Amino acid sequence: MAQQELLTQTRDWANWDDSYEFVQDNYPRYTEVNLSSEMLKELRYQLMAFFDANGEVYYLLGLEPDSGRYATCSSNTDECAWMTPLINAIQSSIKATSDQPYFLFPGPHSPSMVAVAPIHRLDGSGPSTGWLAKVRLMDDSWIERMEEETGLPITIEQQPTAEAAPFTKIEGDTIYAQHLLPTHVPAISISVSTQLNRTHYLASLSTIRYLLIWTAFLMLFVIGFVLWLMERMILKPLKALAIFARQASEEDSRLDSALLCQRNDEIGMLARSFAQQLTRQRELNAELLNLSTHDSLTGLPNRRLFDQRLQAVIRETESSSQPLAVMMLDIDYFKLFNDHYGHQKGDECLQQVAQVLQRIATAHDFLIARTGGEEFSALLPGTSAQHAKHIGQLLHETVYALAFPHLASPVAPYVTISVGIGFFDESTDTSPSVFMRTADQALYSAKAAGRHQVKIFTQSNANFSFHTHDTPHE
Ligand code: GH3
Ligand code: MG
Ligand code: MG
Repeated sequence: MAQQELLTQTRDWANWDDSYEFVQDNYPRYTEVNLSSEMLKELRYQLMAFFDANGEVYYLLGLEPDSGRYATCSSNTDECAWMTPLINAIQSSIKATSDQPYFLFPGPHSPSMVAVAPIHRLDGSGPSTGWLAKVRLMDDSWIERMEEETGLPITIEQQPTAEAAPFTKIEGDTIYAQHLLPTHVPAISISVSTQLNRTHYLASLSTIRYLLIWTAFLMLFVIGFVLWLMERMILKPLKALAIFARQASEEDSRLDSALLCQRNDEIGMLARSFAQQLTRQRELNAELLNLSTHDSLTGLPNRRLFDQRLQAVIRETESSSQPLAVMMLDIDYFKLFNDHYGHQKGDECLQQVAQVLQRIATAHDFLIARTGGEEFSALLPGTSAQHAKHIGQLLHETVYALAFPHLASPVAPYVTISVGIGFFDESTDTSPSVFMRTADQALYSAKAAGRHQVKIFTQSNANFSFHTHDTPHE
């Protein structure tokens, strides 16, 4: 490092245009302006040597090591004769054109470090005109400086290369280390030795260990904090979303998505779109359920719903011994209606009849369904025979009062219905189909008796030759 510093200073001067002019003989005042014993002392140079393009001495200045006398010369004779060994070494280094621009030179007391640089213009123009060498003595004051800079005790010795060897050894708390540097003279090396106090380093090591432990704690804390944040900000709401989704799929009535949906983050977005999907799905389900249980032409409940209700009501009636009535209603001579007015008018008629039937069912709180083409069934739980007859009459009259023209009908100028009423009591078979046959039987007897009337099931009108709902009653 110290050698590198000297080399940099040498190159600085060698690339300086004034130095270039000086060795070209163009700047005689150079020595007066730049070179002095003070400069050498201040910069701690033992000597400086300028050489011409042929490597011959051009100008020398130096402080003689023993006396400290300042000398300047144009050759290494007379006053500068003490420089001769150094100048020779520098010249041989220049001639060797080795790419090692610095070397160490053993001296009578202390070694010196030498740096050599070719003299150029700063911008590189013009021919190379010579060399500049700077020499720094590695004496006690230099060692002192090094010790100050490194904080380590340093010993420098010139030794015969054959006897010297680098080493590192530990004795007690002290580490001894010796490094060998080659010199310009192969037989002589320079040993640089130092010693380190291990306790000092061990103390530093324990400081490092403390630092490591604290860093580990800090990292654990940070990791824990990040995990806690993740738990709070991501995992917890995700869990809530999962619970929300599960309850939603189970149609849980306790479902409360308000908090989730109010969130401003991606989880809130997910919850909102999920809630929307859920609402839409429920609407579709309701629509589908309605479609599967209602008749599309009249909007009345269909046979599927009627059968479900009938089964449920029969079960309840069995356990509660409540009365239960059913009715079958059939439009009279509807085939003739269709033949006379056309199918489309027939549909319209069915819708109007269905509408009035439904109105009465709603008013008296019972179920009426379209269970066949022009056939309807009513389910009246908790209804006595007498009340059922009254309702049957009401339905019959209301349809007639609709005064929907039916000129082809042999019984009336308007559309009429026949109604059969059946009952459920202890003597009745609990099977829904057998139960419905009582109403069918009554309807059959109404049809047989001339249509346009209401009949209640009795054993006398039961002839057990059952008719299905769609069989023409003749
Ligand atoms: P009855 O008095 O014995 O009941 O005679 P009917 O002509 O009403 O009975 P039948 O069973 O012979 O005829 C029923 C007719 O109802 C036949 C069919 O064309 C008609 N029909 C069934 N469903 C519909 C429908 O949805 N629309 C229309 N326009 N007609 C229907
Ligand atoms: Mg009919
Ligand atoms: Mg019929």
